[in-house]
Amino acid sequence: MNINKLSRQNIQALTPYQSARRLGGKGDIWLNANEYPTSPNFDLTDRIFNRYPEPQPQAVVEGYAAYAGVLPDNVLVSRGGDESIELIIRAFCEADDQVLYCPPTYGMYAVSAETCGIACKTVPLTADFQLNLSEIEHQLDGVKVVFVCSPNNPTGNLLNRSDLLTLLQMTAGRAIVVVDEAYIEFCPEATMATELANYPHLAIIRTLSKAFALAGVRCGFTLANPELIQILQKVIAPYPLPVPVSDIAAQALQPQGLTQMQRSVAELLANRADLQKKLENLPLVEQVYPSQANYLLVKFKDGQKVFQSLWEQGIILRDQHNALNLQNCIRITVGTKGENERVIEAISALSGKK
Ligand SMILES: *Cc1c(COP(=O)(O)O)cnc(C)c1O
Repeated sequence: MNINKLSRQNIQALTPYQSARRLGGKGDIWLNANEYPTSPNFDLTDRIFNRYPEPQPQAVVEGYAAYAGVLPDNVLVSRGGDESIELIIRAFCEADDQVLYCPPTYGMYAVSAETCGIACKTVPLTADFQLNLSEIEHQLDGVKVVFVCSPNNPTGNLLNRSDLLTLLQMTAGRAIVVVDEAYIEFCPEATMATELANYPHLAIIRTLSKAFALAGVRCGFTLANPELIQILQKVIAPYPLPVPVSDIAAQALQPQGLTQMQRSVAELLANRADLQKKLENLPLVEQVYPSQANYLLVKFKDGQKVFQSLWEQGIILRDQHNALNLQNCIRITVGTKGENERVIEAISALSGKK
């Protein structure tokens, strides 16, 4: 008996998301998942575990709303930003609706859609990694959700604000526009949260996994107008956040936690500038793309060789060779000063000169 045949056909056909951890590797330098390189330190303060948690923990919702400059009823907390992607698809897409996204970009939009049995349309980013608005408009029939990512993972650039506004105008009354702001803390002035009042179909994804250095906690957010938030409330699990998760998230959103995050961001940006400059001086490097996030997309003469050689030395980066239009590119998460130096040393050693 082949149990696989009993699973849904779209699941039989599904290639699961190739998460950094799933790809494995044996290393002491992990720069493949855009995590913050060091961990903050929190103690559990809530030790009542026999009761179910609050469905939407008030301290986390209010803390995040205050931090994001919105009201508590503009906020939904979920198991990471990834859960938000799936909730939006499940809440808005009928079986024959489609989602649209713009590669090269984050892989979970496609995986979540396929898991739900929803077809995807793609409109590639332009050569400078911006939205192709006329083609998106052309493709909009049947599309219920448009996913865009700014700063975009893996390219690192912001999408033009005027393009995002045009996209919101062309989709009004037709589709939900999801702006994924997983990396917005590294360029906070670029947020679209200030536009929520103008666009009932705008949803913004946030997370504590990147600048807040809490990827292990699994806590993310959707920001949107109350009507949209209430629709997502209908499909989210009854108790999505474990007590220890909301305990730590609430602490991270206290003034002290926010100050710590902002200091971490400043330090990381200085290290990114330094890493970028050093990479640009290496003979094997063709191009370092400008970044507004905590990673750099780097084009090499022979990216496969660099990736493989560093992998074997225990320096685990994210290969982008198979992403659309990113041949020979590697995404390097900005690590600690020491980790970044090891990366530079390992790449310069490959070219035989320092
Ligand atoms: C990391 C990331 C997320 C969400 O991550 P979670 O850990 O699930 O919160 C969402 N979008 C992008 C583009 C990301 O890089």
